[in-house]
Amino acid sequence: MKIAILGAGAMGSLFGGLLAEQNQDVTLLDINEAHLSAIRTQGLILETHGRRRSLTNLRVSRPDKTESIPELLMVFTKSFHTRAALSDVSRVMGPDTTVLTLQNGLGNVELLREFVSLEQIVVGMTTWPADMSRPGAVSSHGAGKIRLMSADGIARPGVEAIAALLNAAGLQCSVDPNVWSAIWEKVAFNAALNSLCAVTGCSVDGIAAVPGGLILARAIVGEVLAVAQAKGIDTDRASCMENVTQAIAKHVGHQPSMLQDVLAGRRTEIEGINGAVVRAAREENLQVTHTETLLELVRLVQARVSGFAG
Ligand code: NAD
Repeated sequence: MKIAILGAGAMGSLFGGLLAEQNQDVTLLDINEAHLSAIRTQGLILETHGRRRSLTNLRVSRPDKTESIPELLMVFTKSFHTRAALSDVSRVMGPDTTVLTLQNGLGNVELLREFVSLEQIVVGMTTWPADMSRPGAVSSHGAGKIRLMSADGIARPGVEAIAALLNAAGLQCSVDPNVWSAIWEKVAFNAALNSLCAVTGCSVDGIAAVPGGLILARAIVGEVLAVAQAKGIDTDRASCMENVTQAIAKHVGHQPSMLQDVLAGRRTEIEGINGAVVRAAREENLQVTHTETLLELVRLVQARVSGFAG
């Protein structure tokens, strides 16, 4: 399958690298010149399961320079860059191009719908972690899974083929009609822990420093799941509460991506997480007081560190 990865940062390079290792035809599309040029000269340095190697069989390009039509376009930009990135590649996308999003947050399918029809979109959720240590080098420590389905809910052989491709690359993918539950459950987790850490500067375990930290995190999870329920999406409340409690107990020293973004003076994905939950809650006439407070606090922190005021 001819695969293009749009947004080849930590996640895009990890997925692209693992697929290229299976001799898939992979092109990484990104605007980060330092990253592209490092891959051109030394290959993509990929480290997974403690094994480091250099992959030289990937093509790299700026999105506006690519010429070939991909069969699968995997979108791995931060959600606030999706529209600009898609605008640069829409001219090479055909009616047979499938677009896959495994990005965090809500609203990703709606953004892709501005460029392709719903039946071309595959949506999912992944628990794989990835980091970019320097331009040209990405790593993943730990293991993860992927759950995905057609955005219109219709089972198609093409979706099974994508899952098979990802499985062959060791990415543990299943086609699952309950993907929206998984997406909302991850949004609940991120809305609580990412925002609390971004605002306080605490690592995840630091939230346990005062009793109110865990109470607040669980209250946010409860609010998000109530919105999901109002939207007709069933979630596993007990396991979500357990996951957030366990993360606070065990993720010692872990800085969620939103805290890393704040520390680096970058824009965060708060609008696609807490922001999207607040918008969805309003549509359902629900109050999500804690989620909304954290949204405004992260906006303030973000405005201070990055100058981005929404
Ligand atoms: P990242 O910042 O490492 O990578 C994003 C890439 O997009 C960057 O390389 C950037 O240069 C590129 N980009 C920005 N604008 C672009 C444009 N116009 N055209 C092409 N490329 C452009 O982010 P990431 O950590 O890989 O996360 C990507 C998505 O995956 C996010 O939605 C994130 O929430 C989600 N996610 C991340 C992880 C993780 O562990 N990193 C895990 C699960 C999900």
